[in-house]
Amino acid sequence: MVAKRWGCEHGGRETRMRCAIYARVSTDRQGESVDHQVSLLREFAKRRGQDWEVLEHLVFEDEGVSATKVSIWTRPAMKRLMEAAERSEVDVVLFKGISRLARNTQEALDVLDRLRARGLRVLSYEESYDSAKENSNFMFTMHAAIAEYEAEKIGVRVRLGNKEKAKSGRWVGGTPPDGYYVGRDGHLVPDDARAGLIRSIFERYALDGSSCAAIARELNARGETTSTGNGFSQTAVARILDNEVYAGHLVYNRRTDRTVRDYDSEVPGKKKERRMPNVRTEWVVVHCAHPPLVTPDLVQMAQMRRGRVRSQAPRTTHLLTGVLSCGRCRAPLIAQVKRTAKRVYRYYVCRTYHQAGRQACAQGSVPADDLESYVLTRLSERLREVSINVLAPALQSACAQGEEQAKRERERINRQLTRLTDAWIAAQVDDVLAGQAASIRGRIARLTAERDALYKRLTQAGLHRHKRAQEIYARLVDLAQDEPAMKRYWVQMLISSLVVHDRTLLIQYTFSSSDDTPIDGNV
Ligand SMILES: [Zn+2]
Repeated sequence: MVAKRWGCEHGGRETRMRCAIYARVSTDRQGESVDHQVSLLREFAKRRGQDWEVLEHLVFEDEGVSATKVSIWTRPAMKRLMEAAERSEVDVVLFKGISRLARNTQEALDVLDRLRARGLRVLSYEESYDSAKENSNFMFTMHAAIAEYEAEKIGVRVRLGNKEKAKSGRWVGGTPPDGYYVGRDGHLVPDDARAGLIRSIFERYALDGSSCAAIARELNARGETTSTGNGFSQTAVARILDNEVYAGHLVYNRRTDRTVRDYDSEVPGKKKERRMPNVRTEWVVVHCAHPPLVTPDLVQMAQMRRGRVRSQAPRTTHLLTGVLSCGRCRAPLIAQVKRTAKRVYRYYVCRTYHQAGRQACAQGSVPADDLESYVLTRLSERLREVSINVLAPALQSACAQGEEQAKRERERINRQLTRLTDAWIAAQVDDVLAGQAASIRGRIARLTAERDALYKRLTQAGLHRHKRAQEIYARLVDLAQDEPAMKRYWVQMLISSLVVHDRTLLIQYTFSSSDDTPIDGNV
């Protein structure tokens, strides 16, 4: 105002309203183009008066972004709008309707609040909302709630439609499974170009007894790729073997993917998908919905073997993983198990060597039994050499640390158990999945045992924290006789690093830093 009266050449700058436009369109909704929204809002601004100016660099468009799936804070254009607002480049934000902003009341209110906190005026065309008007918040909240309700209704309609479609045996949503394409009538049709590959996977597994890993290696060596163009992994092979679709059956609605906000991510409120298993009555199971790629016999054989292999997968405790690393390339040494008909061999192998071969790292593998017993002996000796006064504080802090670590692990196992139990229930009630029940049961049993060992360890750690160093010490000297879980616990607590270089071993203890000269491991 002042500038205008004095006829300054920047006349009117103070009253000029720098308008930003925010437009959004998701991929699945047509007839609501970004261009249309922008031109409408330009017009809208113009009608407000000459001072309302939409600046070219303040037109923010999120195209192909679903408001239900993508949080406001991870949309690229919205982010840039916020940044522009932060730099005070904007006075007003215009958008066509609250549903363009968010499909969730909480998010809509959140974005409004943030824009207003940056001193911006917010206007919506459809709802005639203007943040500068008194008592306008109630209307905004109402409209946001309506937008959310509409989105929910659409979701319900889509799900019902999909369910009906599935009941008729047609493939619903998403990429069809490898080996099939979706035919004109919506049913899966064998893709001759890929069917042979899928069949060969079942044959190699069920008839020849190859492992998933071996099959994956074989396919990759032949230059085969998955339908998405990636190399085959052990999991990818296993997933094919476990998919009832290849037997001609269709199972739909086994689980629901819900979009939830992740309050723990670095972008608070960022959305993520959460898979929720549905109860059996919600499933749609159609037998013989499409031509099978694999004969029922072969599927059954594969399923039986899957169950057996998984329940028998051995649980070998490698004492030193986590502290052990390669002196040549600094990569961790990982556990490897080789089985022959007669016995099991355990090794520690450099990860680089394991992944990329000898030319990448020349460190050979180390037999696990020898290395472990050597480390335990050395640790016991070392403990005897150190005065108890030096040891006590280290033991105390090790116990506390161990307790923390065990608690985290317990959380992880509990989560996994919950998931497995859901899967097991699903396998109980569905005959298509029945073959998997035994293997899931095996995994549950193993995890429960692992958890029990953890609880023991936790109690021990808790007890040790209050014990006198002398008592702990007495137990440690006999470490080699202790049970595996406890051995591993103390090794991880008392040894900060183990470095293998060729055939020498360097041990670094947490309770004593003096022992850092290479020791000939003789392993
Ligand atoms: Zn290495």
